[in-house]
Amino acid sequence: MTHLPNSMEARDIAYHFHGYTNAVRHAEIGPHIMENGEGVFVTDNTGKRYVEAMAGLWSVALGWGEQRLVRAATQQMENLSFYHNFGHRAHPAIIELAEKLVDMAPVPMSKAYFTNSGSEANDTIMKMIWYRSNALGKPQKKKLISRNRGYHGVTIASGSLTGLPNNHLSFDMPIDRVLHTTCPHYWKEGLEGESEDQFATRCAQDLDAMIQAEGPDTIAAFFAEPVMGAGGVVVPPSTYWEKIQAVLAKYDILLVADEVICGFGRTGRMFASETYDIKPDVMVLSKQITSSYVPFSAFLVNDRFYEPVAEESGRIGVLGHGFTGGGHPVGAAVALENIAIIEERELVKHAAEVGSYFRSRLSTFADHPLVGEVRGIGLIAALEVAHPNQDIAPGKMGAAMADYLLQEGVVSRAMMDACAFCPPLIISRDETDLIIDAVEAGLTALE
Ligand code: PLP
Repeated sequence: MTHLPNSMEARDIAYHFHGYTNAVRHAEIGPHIMENGEGVFVTDNTGKRYVEAMAGLWSVALGWGEQRLVRAATQQMENLSFYHNFGHRAHPAIIELAEKLVDMAPVPMSKAYFTNSGSEANDTIMKMIWYRSNALGKPQKKKLISRNRGYHGVTIASGSLTGLPNNHLSFDMPIDRVLHTTCPHYWKEGLEGESEDQFATRCAQDLDAMIQAEGPDTIAAFFAEPVMGAGGVVVPPSTYWEKIQAVLAKYDILLVADEVICGFGRTGRMFASETYDIKPDVMVLSKQITSSYVPFSAFLVNDRFYEPVAEESGRIGVLGHGFTGGGHPVGAAVALENIAIIEERELVKHAAEVGSYFRSRLSTFADHPLVGEVRGIGLIAALEVAHPNQDIAPGKMGAAMADYLLQEGVVSRAMMDACAFCPPLIISRDETDLIIDAVEAGLTALE
């Protein structure tokens, strides 16, 4: 595709180094440039409008153009545009937010730590876990287990937790100390004749066997998304979490619930740990915490996690870790306002209601010859296109569907043969109908 020499497209190709992109192909086709957003819609630089059915990157809970968030950011910039939280420094917005998050947590938590992205949060937690094991006089207890197809970020450490091959290829990852266990996707991983409950038992047995093989005293923590997002919207069997937690308790292994996508209403409860009765030691939060108006992340820890870490810092004299922007005042002010809006407008209840409507409409495609599985919970869902048509290679059906939907004015996300939907929490029933109409047309076109 040729672009005018001084166009945005040509300048993007010339100067912008994209991640998550095939750079050679990008140089051929160029960028897709979004210019404006309002509510659940975004508009590109040709003036074409789309339903943003992925809330950006599973993140813009309140949709685009929420003026209260704009005002919260502006006000904070005027009062105190920046301050850090190193040493004994703090600022009012971060103290208020720490208290709010600890209060909101569905299980007893004692402290909130602040970072700038989901990757940084998970990276920091890994370091803190190792620090804690040293503090407890268990220097051998350092290995971490996550799951195949889990997603926890892309830094060297958090990217090693991520269980997707594309995030490791040519990066010399994953690092030692990180192991991956079974992905709880019954539709893909379940054996013939195995019930969902039996499959959940097998997932727990696989975890147990891995712990036994490595030596229970060497395993420090298990990291998992309550519902996997980037791995394909994997909703675990209903008994999965109970069985997994029983194994972790048996060996005194910490549980880190990565709620970066699930947190703040996505699964129809404020946190997915409530949805699945998960009792994590650490909860990771990002994305919807600020509706992604500014980069921000946090994690909450319980006493069991915090106390040894605090004591070790007293012994050493410092916890030598922190990011310049961690707990940024503008992010904290936006997070506080964002959470206030979610609560005032009862958007968690709304997400549960609209989500159930949307998923029931999506389920009507389950019998379509191209569809393998329709899955989801709350306001997150995926359609697995399981029977590729002759012209499209296996593994590319998700992309074919997402490309078609884009033409129809709907932004979705392809993951192998699946196509994911995770719209802003504010979406109305009528707006979800626009997604459903496009999916219907897409299935007909691809058949
Ligand atoms: N954890 C989960 C569950 C995620 O979905 C993501 C990003 O999609 C991350 C961590 C990493 O977050 P970030 O991209 O902000 O580093």
